[in-house]
Amino acid sequence: MNEDFLSFVWRYQYFDSADLRTETGEALQILRIGQLNTDAGPDFAESRVLLDGMEWVGAVELHVKSSDWEVHRHPGDLAYESVVLHVVWDDDRPVRRRDGTLVPTLVLSGRVKPAVRERYQRLMESKAEIPCAPQFRDAPRLQKISMLDRVLLERLDGKAARVIDLWEENNRDWEETAYQWLAQYFGFRLNAPAFLRLARIIPLKVLQKHRGSGRQIEALLFGCSGLLPENSEEVYVQDLHKEYQFLATKYGLLSQRMELTEWKFLRLRPAGFPTVRLAQWATLLQREAGLFASLTSIENADDLRKMLRVSQSDYWKRHYQFGKRSASTVPDLGKDAADLLIINAAVPLLAAYARQRDHAGLLDRAVRWLEQISAEKNHITRAWEALGMRVNTAFDSQALIEWHTTYCARKRCLECSVGASLVRPA
Ligand code: SF4
Repeated sequence: MNEDFLSFVWRYQYFDSADLRTETGEALQILRIGQLNTDAGPDFAESRVLLDGMEWVGAVELHVKSSDWEVHRHPGDLAYESVVLHVVWDDDRPVRRRDGTLVPTLVLSGRVKPAVRERYQRLMESKAEIPCAPQFRDAPRLQKISMLDRVLLERLDGKAARVIDLWEENNRDWEETAYQWLAQYFGFRLNAPAFLRLARIIPLKVLQKHRGSGRQIEALLFGCSGLLPENSEEVYVQDLHKEYQFLATKYGLLSQRMELTEWKFLRLRPAGFPTVRLAQWATLLQREAGLFASLTSIENADDLRKMLRVSQSDYWKRHYQFGKRSASTVPDLGKDAADLLIINAAVPLLAAYARQRDHAGLLDRAVRWLEQISAEKNHITRAWEALGMRVNTAFDSQALIEWHTTYCARKRCLECSVGASLVRPA
C-alpha cells in the first residue's frame, strides 16, 4: 500500500461508498473529490463534503496511516488547517487541528475490492521491461492510442522547455540557439557536450562573417576544438593552423581553446569520429545563412533531410583523423544520422518555437516530420513491438520511448491510461 494507490482510489472513487462514515461516526457524503495538487500542501484542493448534513469546503489529505500526519510534519502547518477530510488506509492515531478539534477521517481499507489492490500489486512487483506486459493486450485500444498522443506531446514539451532555457541564455536569439542546439546533436551521443562547448566558445556571428570561406570556418572549428595538430607536414593542416592563429587572435578566442581529451573517439565508427562530424558541421554552417530560418521554413522531412545530409571538404573525404590518410572514401553524413538530427534537434527546436509563439500549426508540422521519418529501433521499441504495438514512424518510436522511460520504468502505472484501465474495478 502506498499513497499513489490511495490517491488513485480517491481520484476515481474506486471504493464502496455505501453508508460512508468517518471514524467518529458522522455520516459522510462526498460532493466533490477536489483538484489533485502536485505542489506543496494537501493532496486535493477545493473538495466538498457533507458531514452529518453540513457542507464543508476545503482540502483532502491522504495518508497510508493517519499517524503519517505527524511523520510528514503537518501539525502546526497552516496549509493543513484547511483539511476537511483525512483519507487513510489505516487509522492508527487520531489527528487534531491546532484548536484541538479532530480532523474527520475516512478509512478506506475494507472498502476497496481486493482484486483492485492485487492487480496494482502485480504491476508494482513485475520485473518485466514493461511491467504490465502479461495484461497489456487486454487493455482497450483507445487507451493505448490516447496514451501515445499524450506521451509524444509530453516528450516534445520537455525538450522544448530545454530549448527555451537555452534561448533565454542566448538573450532570446533564435539563430544562436539553433546553432548551439544543433551543434550539440552533431556530436551525437558521445561528443554532444564537446560540440555544445565549442559552439558556446565560437559565437555564430563570428562564423557567419566567414561564410565565404569553408577553410576559415574549418580553421575556427578545428582550432578552437583543440583537435588541430600544432605541427604537420600537410599543407591543409598548416593552412588551417595559420588561419586559426589569425582569426582566434582577432576574435579573442586563443585562450578558450578546448583540450583534445574532451573529444571521444573510442567506441565510435570512424565515420562518426568528431573530426569528420566537425568537417560536416563546417559545411552546413558555410552553406546555411540562417539555420533557424531554414529549419522553420521547411515543410516536410524529406527536404529537411536533404538540407542536413552534408558532405565534408576534400581533405575529410580521405581522412578520418588529421594526418591519417584512409584507403577508402569517408562517407557523407548518412540518412540515419540526418534522421536522428531531425528527431533530436530539429523537431524540439520547432516545438520550442511553436510554444514560444503559441503557434499550433508549427507544432503540427514538428509532429508531421516525425510521422514522415522511419522509427528508431532499440530494445525499448522491440519490447513494445512484442506487445503488439506498431512501431513504424519516429512518432511511434519517440512516443513509446517516452512512455517507457517516464511511466513504465518508474512504475507510474496509475498515471498511465492503460494502467488505470487494468487496475480499476471490473
Ligand atoms: S506505465 Fe502503463 S504501459 Fe507502462 S507498465 Fe505501467 S500500465 Fe503498463
